[in-house]
Amino acid sequence: MYKARLFATRYSRLYERFYAFSEPIILNIMRIVSNISGGRLDGLMTRMEKASKGFLFDCKMCGNCVLSSTGMTCPMNCPKTIRNGPCGGVRENGQCEVKPEMVCVWVQAWEGAERMKNGNKINDLQFATDKSVQGSSAWLNILKQREVQAKEQLTVEKAS
Ligand code: SF4
Repeated sequence: MYKARLFATRYSRLYERFYAFSEPIILNIMRIVSNISGGRLDGLMTRMEKASKGFLFDCKMCGNCVLSSTGMTCPMNCPKTIRNGPCGGVRENGQCEVKPEMVCVWVQAWEGAERMKNGNKINDLQFATDKSVQGSSAWLNILKQREVQAKEQLTVEKAS
């Protein structure tokens, strides 16, 4: 939803605070539900993420969320899905060259980042999207990554 996306950019600092507060709660709830249900409710949680983030950010469910590094503006709304800054075609008035009726996603991202406490994360280099996780839950993917990291850490500790 385009208007909601613009709103998120305008109030990116507020969204940043809310996200910092709610992320651990959301992830813990999802971890518990996923464990108790043996993964049977993962699909439902993915649909809930799609609905909520779709409404708030026009989320395209790339499976690898970088909102907090892009001024609370979803870079997957760029028609070229560029995740590291604008292409060379941004119009002088800041509009997109592919969709002239839309402000360039990266103009929005930069404005949003300037309002955020940790907005300098916009300078971090983002990897290209992993197509194998397209359509999956970014939150569940974070949990899976943390699980793998914890296991690797345990292996290292046992070996030393
Ligand atoms: S999960 Fe991907 S598509 Fe969805 S809001 Fe985050 S960056 Fe955008």
